[in-house]
Amino acid sequence: MPRPITAVIHNEALQHNLSIAKQHMPNSKVFAVVKANAYGHGIEHVYPSFQTADGFALLDIAEARRLRTLGWAGPILLLEGIFSAQDLQDCLDLNLSFTIHSEHQLNWVEQFSRAAHFDVYLKMNSGMNRLGFHPEHYQAAWERLNQLDQIQTITHMMHFSDADNQRFGESGIDYQYTIFEETIRDLPGESTICNSAAILRHPELHSDTVRSGIMLYGSSPDYPIHTAQDWDLQPTMSLRSEIIAIQELKNHDSVGYGSTFIAEHAMKIGIVACGYADGYPRVSPTGTPVLVNSIRSKIIGRISMDMLAVDISHVKDAVVGSEVVLWGKSSNGTILPIDEVAASSGTIGYELMCAVTARVNFINQE
Ligand SMILES: *Cc1c(COP(=O)(O)O)cnc(C)c1O
Repeated sequence: MPRPITAVIHNEALQHNLSIAKQHMPNSKVFAVVKANAYGHGIEHVYPSFQTADGFALLDIAEARRLRTLGWAGPILLLEGIFSAQDLQDCLDLNLSFTIHSEHQLNWVEQFSRAAHFDVYLKMNSGMNRLGFHPEHYQAAWERLNQLDQIQTITHMMHFSDADNQRFGESGIDYQYTIFEETIRDLPGESTICNSAAILRHPELHSDTVRSGIMLYGSSPDYPIHTAQDWDLQPTMSLRSEIIAIQELKNHDSVGYGSTFIAEHAMKIGIVACGYADGYPRVSPTGTPVLVNSIRSKIIGRISMDMLAVDISHVKDAVVGSEVVLWGKSSNGTILPIDEVAASSGTIGYELMCAVTARVNFINQE
């Protein structure tokens, strides 16, 4: 028998969450962001549920090729664009759209000599200061692209830094949205600006295409202001394992490496087949929530490479083989939101789902 740790990918939840994105933005094309192997879910595992998306967005040409192999014939957008002039050949062969965020990329496209009709996304640096043309240089970049025979369409693109929250006590989006709209005012072409936080919090924004990522995977982009339940999002990944041993502790007994946990009374703990080599964060402290037989409990002591300990003193029917849910849904439907586990571990749901490692067995379920 394989080790009992499993990541269950929930097809209906993926479909449901995509429908929530569409409901918030009924007049926009909804692209499903599947970078980082679909936020750790596996592109092949989510693809059947996302076939009603208007397009896919990701970073790696290798991942784009997997989507084409699965049969996807619609738009695919490379969010960071090309990394070398040679990548343009793959974009041509695989019919990929790509972001142009830098002078380098613009030069490569200008020098591309083969016949092509690329759909490109010209990225503006509207304040995030990672990628994109500064507003002062944006129009000149657009004009250079607009002259090229190898360019078919140019979509205006930007990315919000604060759509999940307030910025310096003001709206998180206004400062970027205003400069973006002013800069593109006299230029033709569609635009794409919204990520999940903007889709959910600012459905009033105009974005011909939206790029929905984390919300599709059932994590709230603005937790703890809103929970996934507040946004009517369902967990799409359940990390489940089992108890493989039980220990009865006396007062003052310690648990795990470094003896970071010392019992203050007699208690019973379960040892779970899940550790940081499965992607569970080593930094998760004592008290981080888990479900044992669908009953809420907590992590005890330090996370090991292959194991962790949970308190089962109050879980009367816990035995070797009992189900433990690290995040997501138990087999009887009880939910432990990934955002709660992330918050306890000092991170966000994105990082937890992306970190699940290859040795975990992935399965799809309705
Ligand atoms: C990852 C990414 C998104 C999706 O962001 P979420 O917060 O997961 O919705 C959108 N746009 C760009 C450019 C991205 O890199």
